[in-house]
Amino acid sequence: MKEFDYVIIGGGCAGLSLAYELEINDRLKEKTLAIIENRKEYKRDKTWSFWKVFDHNFDDCVIKSWNNFTINTSENSHELTNKKFPYQSIDSGKFYNKISSKLSNNSNVSFYKNLNEINSKNSIIFNSVFQKQLDKSDLWQHFQGIEIETPKKIFDDEIINLMDFNCDQRNGVHFFYTLPFSRNKALIETTWLSNLEDHSLRDYDLQLENYIKNNLGIKNYKINFTEKGAIPLFYPSFRNDNKLINIGSAGGMTRLSTGYTFLNIQEHSKYIVKNIEKIDKMKKFNLGKKISFFRQSIS
Ligand SMILES: Cc1cc2nc3c(=O)[nH]c(=O)nc-3n(C[C@H](O)[C@H](O)[C@H](O)COP(=O)(O)OP(=O)(O)OC[C@H]3O[C@@H](n4cnc5c(N)ncnc54)[C@H](O)[C@@H]3O)c2cc1C
Repeated sequence: MKEFDYVIIGGGCAGLSLAYELEINDRLKEKTLAIIENRKEYKRDKTWSFWKVFDHNFDDCVIKSWNNFTINTSENSHELTNKKFPYQSIDSGKFYNKISSKLSNNSNVSFYKNLNEINSKNSIIFNSVFQKQLDKSDLWQHFQGIEIETPKKIFDDEIINLMDFNCDQRNGVHFFYTLPFSRNKALIETTWLSNLEDHSLRDYDLQLENYIKNNLGIKNYKINFTEKGAIPLFYPSFRNDNKLINIGSAGGMTRLSTGYTFLNIQEHSKYIVKNIEKIDKMKKFNLGKKISFFRQSIS
């Protein structure tokens, strides 16, 4: 079986971001990389949105950026502006395409479906797959979003609604958000902070339908795209060792207060690539005061 210098388990956001960072920094000219990814095909499955507080490699995958946003409660709507740090949404389909086409030019990079297809005994492994079932009774952010298209131009696409708490709270914290990509296209998401055991909160289709009709007053629309997910708002207790480094959500890259992960993944990738020659000896790294990357592994 073929041996590789580096193995990335999970070719999703973190795995591909790291592979891309290695590639653009010429770290895969002399080294080989296997990416273990079990999905059948790459297509848009997520929209990654975040405040762009630092630069990243994927500006060309941005659907739209905004500087204006509102936060709604049942009493009020507060309008705010952030000129310095725009809020951005990335199309995961464009992200996957960009990275796949870049990596396809390098014969040192190979994709496999299973780890047991290669010999990883001497490899440095970067893992982005949760290795065990996570605790459903803990706190999660779970959500479903739909991109809708309306026949008429009804959205103000210069302003997003970041959080609308004017909705049924049941036994959790609940809000909707609306990201207008154009005058007649918007991503509308229902988001809950709760445990994952309460299935009654997961009638997302109905929640979205009611919100769009009753709160946004939109009767006529078609759905272009649906995304659904659950992000643990707690750190999984996975251990790094000198040959296995957890990355992505499995590596504690989620900001627990908000679920934002995308930019932390980019920063982590840059850190790994900068230190790749000695990564097996790295014990601890702190990203400024914001996050300690190996928080779980060394505690
Ligand atoms: C629908 C959705 C929307 C999100 N939106 C945002 C957002 O707006 N902003 C933000 O900052 N964060 C967001 N997140 C959180 C986070 O950014 C994403 O989950 C991000 O994709 C995490 O990257 P990752 O590489 O850790 O996981 P993933 O991107 O899920 O990558 C893991 C990969 O491993 C593969 N895999 C799984 N099991 C195996 C196996 N056994 N063998 C081989 N491969 C396997 C999967 O197919 C997948 O490609 C969102 C999450 C979801 C689910």
